[in-house]
Formats: sequence, structure tokens, C-alpha cells
Amino acid sequence: MEEWKEQMQNHVDTAEKLRRFINLTEGEEEAIASMKTKWGTTPYFASLMDPDDPTCPIRRQVIPSPLELKNRYGIENYLVWKENRATEEVRPDSIARQYDDRIAFTVTDVCANYCRHCFRKELVVDRELKLRFDVDEGLDWIADHPEIRDVLITGGDPFILSDEKIEYVIAKLREISHLEMIRFGTRTPIVLPQRITEGLKKILKSYHRVPIWINTQCNHPKEITEETARAVYDLLTCGVNVGNQAVLLKGINDDVETFRRLHQKLLTARIRPYYVFYCEPVPGVDHFRTPVEKGAELIRDAIRGHTTGLAQPMYVIATNIGKIPLMPDYYIMGKDEKEYTLRNYKGQTTQWPNIPE
Ligand SMILES: *Cc1c(COP(=O)(O)O)cnc(C)c1O
Ligand code: SF4
Repeated sequence: MEEWKEQMQNHVDTAEKLRRFINLTEGEEEAIASMKTKWGTTPYFASLMDPDDPTCPIRRQVIPSPLELKNRYGIENYLVWKENRATEEVRPDSIARQYDDRIAFTVTDVCANYCRHCFRKELVVDRELKLRFDVDEGLDWIADHPEIRDVLITGGDPFILSDEKIEYVIAKLREISHLEMIRFGTRTPIVLPQRITEGLKKILKSYHRVPIWINTQCNHPKEITEETARAVYDLLTCGVNVGNQAVLLKGINDDVETFRRLHQKLLTARIRPYYVFYCEPVPGVDHFRTPVEKGAELIRDAIRGHTTGLAQPMYVIATNIGKIPLMPDYYIMGKDEKEYTLRNYKGQTTQWPNIPE
């Protein structure tokens, strides 16, 4: 059996299996025993946990917490609202639409890691929301909408599908003449790098009119290993670019040191930072959320000017009307008819001529 399939078969989803990797606290034991929620990860990702530290950033993303039962700031029925599922345009359940020229195409609700902060928690983790994922129905809808030029295949985690299914979806999408690009959102390079097999590479490989782009999700420098770097390198050799979409998580990556190291280390594994998302107001994730301004402050204090420009992601809130960038805005201190006063990351200022219209 392929190693990635073994990883999925030996999914760490009981206290007993988890105890092979870490020393569970009483609180963790209790939460696992009492909470009705889907949880679990791969043996690979579990092996990266700190066996003795319950605040380990990997443990906190994997092990359910009683704090998930509290919901003060979350929006009920969040996903239906956020993905515009209650609007007039009739669409298959698999299609989420916020933009004219691109859509998110949900093909599965299975993941390699059930992230406690998931913005699709209601669907993927808590499973209160039921949607129908009919791939052919989604493909037909896309074929019928010539304005769609970019399809983002998401989930769940689409790379948990078999090679045959992935090949089928890619082949079908490439037959649609108005499509210019295919994107996958998959956490496998981080939580299951073994998924990037020779067989999958063969499917992704070779020059084609319609390129494939991948975004993964890495939230802490500890998640980047030699295995991840190898998987990303393999994807790049197939002509597939790999970006990162981190989630800003309280106590995990919301300090200057960790935030900078995360983005620097992504580049060492050839992953290009794309977005940092504000943690969305899904019910049950209050304990992961920071004030909205936090992400912009971190870019100001940890990234811009402080390190390689390629390490800079765009900080966004993903709302029901699309993603809204919230970047720091300290640069222009003043402007008159003659000139601008510009400020850099160190607080130094300089003058720049103002050209009238
Ligand atoms: C995030 C998202 C996209 C892609 O947005 P980009 O900014 O182009 O990466 C498209 N459709 C939906 C519904 C999304 O949530
Ligand atoms: S991999 Fe993505 S869809 Fe799956 S639980 Fe994590 S954040 Fe949610």
C-alpha cells in the first residue's frame, strides 16, 4: 500500500492512538471523551507534536478543546452566509461564489487533519451542515458559465481523493475552453507530504494550456519539515507553484518572532506566502481569534522591511462579499501640493515629489 494511504488508514483519531505520540493532559482526555466532533490527524503530523507541552502549536490545531463549546462572537449558520448559499442564483452545493470570474469548487468533506480552527467547521468538523458534493453536477455548472476562468478546487482536502478522481476532475476541467487556470487548496504538503507520490506527479506533470496552482495551509514554523520541502520541490518540478494561506491564530502565530519565522521558513521550503487570513467568526473558534488589526500590525512589525520581500503575504479578511485586504497603512505621513512625506519600517522619513494630474 502507498505510504499516504497507510497514513490515512492509521489516522490518529482516538485518545489511545494519540497517547503513542504525546502525554495527554487530563483536560485533553476529558475533551476527547466528551465532545461530539470529528477530529484527528495523520501519524506523520502527530509525530511533530511536543509530547509534554499542551500549548504546542500542532497539538492546539489537532486536539479538541472544551473552549469550542463556547460561542460568544461566532455567527450562527456561518458557512451558508459566508458562501452566499442563500442567494438567488441557483448553484450546485459544490459551488461557492463571491466573484464574477472565479469560484470555489468543493469536492469532498474529508481531510487529512481536522483543524480545530477550520472556517468550514460546521461542514467538515462539526458536521451539522450537510451539503451534496456531486462532482459532475459542479463540472456541468462550470461548463455552462463562460465567465468563469479560474476554478479553485477545495474541500475538505481534495488531495485525499484517489489519483483517478483527481485526474478525472483535472481532465474534465481542461476540456472546458473558457478555463484559464485550476487551483487546489490542500493541506497535504504540510499534514501528509507523502501524498505527493510518483502517481500524482504523473497526473500533475507536463506542459499544458491550463496551469495548476496549489495553495497549502501552514500556520507555524514547526510544521515545515524536510518531508514538506521535498513534496513542494516535487510539485514544482511538475510545473505546479505552491503558495501558503496561513490563518492568524491566537497563541500560535500572533507574536512577532513566530510570525516572521513562519514566513521566512516557508521560503526555505520554496513555498511562497500568499495570504494570511483573519480567523473567521465560525461558532466555536473564539479562543483562536485576535482583534482584526493584529494581522496588519504583525506585517508592519515582523515582515515589511524586516525581512525578504518575497516572505510578505497579503493580510485579508475573507467575508461573504469577498476577501478584503487589511494591510498596514503607515507609509504616507503627509502630502501637500509639492510633495509626499513617506515613512519606512524603521520610522525614518523621506520626501517624494508630488506630480499633479
Ligand atoms: C477565496 C475564494 C476565491 C479565490 O480568491 P482569490 O483572492 O482569487 O485567491 C474564490 N471564490 C471564493 C468563493 C473564495 O472564497
Ligand atoms: S484542512 Fe482545510 S478544510 Fe480541512 S479541517 Fe483543515 S482548514 Fe478545514
